[in-house]
Amino acid sequence: MAEEKTLIIIKPDGIQRHLAGEIITRFEKKGFKLVAAKFMQISESLARKHYGVHKGKPFFEGVVKYLSSSPAMVMVWQADGVIAMARKLMGATFGYEAQGGTIRGDFSCSRGYNLIHGSDSPESAEFEIGLYFKGEEIVEYKLSDECWLYGQND
Ligand code: UDP
Ligand code: MG
Repeated sequence: MAEEKTLIIIKPDGIQRHLAGEIITRFEKKGFKLVAAKFMQISESLARKHYGVHKGKPFFEGVVKYLSSSPAMVMVWQADGVIAMARKLMGATFGYEAQGGTIRGDFSCSRGYNLIHGSDSPESAEFEIGLYFKGEEIVEYKLSDECWLYGQND
């Protein structure tokens, strides 16, 4: 599997509901490497760019308003195959449908207020990381337990 980066946002409801630590802990415990983080108020225009793929859909204006309604925690996490793995930890889009054990399944029962964003493909990860971070804000370093995280028997 290729080493990948993904953009993860703890959305405004995640911050307001005091779930940031809980959410970060899940990614940390899984073994992902945090390589950038920013606590910020996302502007409406940035939210529009972020959700540009959904322009024209009935929920577009609402989701732009939601993402820019209160501060958010924007992060880049890195690991082999992190994009798909992070989506699994997040769970299905609507909290009331997401499986127990996932972030959305455990902490959200809403349709639109679902605590977290995660990139869904290498292309969207590259685009989204570029919206929030300059190249030099991504920190390169080694985790001391990488040999244990990625141990293989074949
Ligand atoms: N959303 C919504 N209503 C919908 C579909 C989506 O409010 O019917 C919001 C929700 O916050 C979701 C975001 O728009 O996380 C982006 O939708 P997407 O389908 O990309 O879901 P995700 O990738 O976040 O699971
Ligand atoms: Mg999406």
